[in-house]
Amino acid sequence: MKTTIDDLVARLIRHEVRALSAYHVPDAAGLVKLDAMENPYGWPPALVDAWLARLRAARLNRYPDPAAPALKERLRTSMNIPADCAVLLGNGSDELIQMLMLAVTAPGRVVLSPEPSFAMYRLTAIVTGMAYAGVPLTTDFNLDTSAMLAAITRHQPALTFISYPNNPTGNLFDAEAVRAVIEASPGLVVLDEAYHVFAGRSFLNELARYPNVLILRTLSKMGLAGLRLGLLIGAPAWLTEIDKTRLPYNVNVLTQLSADFALTHQDVLDAQAQDIRRERERLTAALRGYAALTVYPSCANFILFRVPRGRADEIFAALKARGVLIKNLHGANAALHDCLRVTVGTPEENRAFLDALAQAV
Ligand SMILES: *Cc1c(COP(=O)(O)O)cnc(C)c1O
Repeated sequence: MKTTIDDLVARLIRHEVRALSAYHVPDAAGLVKLDAMENPYGWPPALVDAWLARLRAARLNRYPDPAAPALKERLRTSMNIPADCAVLLGNGSDELIQMLMLAVTAPGRVVLSPEPSFAMYRLTAIVTGMAYAGVPLTTDFNLDTSAMLAAITRHQPALTFISYPNNPTGNLFDAEAVRAVIEASPGLVVLDEAYHVFAGRSFLNELARYPNVLILRTLSKMGLAGLRLGLLIGAPAWLTEIDKTRLPYNVNVLTQLSADFALTHQDVLDAQAQDIRRERERLTAALRGYAALTVYPSCANFILFRVPRGRADEIFAALKARGVLIKNLHGANAALHDCLRVTVGTPEENRAFLDALAQAV
């Protein structure tokens, strides 16, 4: 009998991979896009012209410089990275998450993370052949310190990821609870600070205290999601090894040039972050005006809220029918039942969202 492609796929693709659902990105064409924590602002036209002029010098016939020393220097200055730390660049911090796992994966080794948190920790753990353990947060979405410590004792995780602030809940975990996790961990603890510009809090200055901590940052949520540039910060001894899992030319010429350009105009990015923080407070206050909603405090550029029981799918669909795309988290995790997440947009976009919500609720 003839072997079908389906037979071959079933035989050759690892069963863990076949069991995964692919990371889903919905079509946002024609919609007010408030689903993916993007910065809603572009650049003033003069800045776009200056950027395009820089791109003229891009040498697309040459491979990018894999070390990118000038760009790393700019990132160091821009983010106040301590001089004794090394920096590793990734094609988004997603790639750095994968590189961290590729560097430590071995049969039986565990990735640990509180839940709900960023979906890529689990997905990438499975893809790289690691086991994954999720530890539920408390009902107000804080770290459950004793549950975390028990899970660390039990699983001896090689890698623990803590999103600070946490996606999709938006809050900053209690810093003492994070320190307790770090101190109890036999493995690496990665603090994922994707939203640091909206939080104003960081563990960067505590890196020197802890030999088992690395920090992950990204330019995505600051306004450069399309570029794909993330960075891993930590002791050179760690990053030298993790660097070996990197594909040689992972950060392309256009990204290197554009990120370098953007960071020379940090004032523009900072002003946008400031606007987003201000809009976040306005949006939070407006949502709190609805007695029917539970609105969770956010230190990021998005807000998680809970709608009346059983109505999340309907309200999400009603918003979409009115042209506003947010994220429906109902069903993503037991703790997120009836939860929706809205990214903070421009004042006009937020108004469109609030108008649609008034109709939908
Ligand atoms: C968005 C996000 C990332 C991914 O960032 P990229 O640099 O765009 O790959 C990483 N971690 C968390 C917690 C995020 O929310």
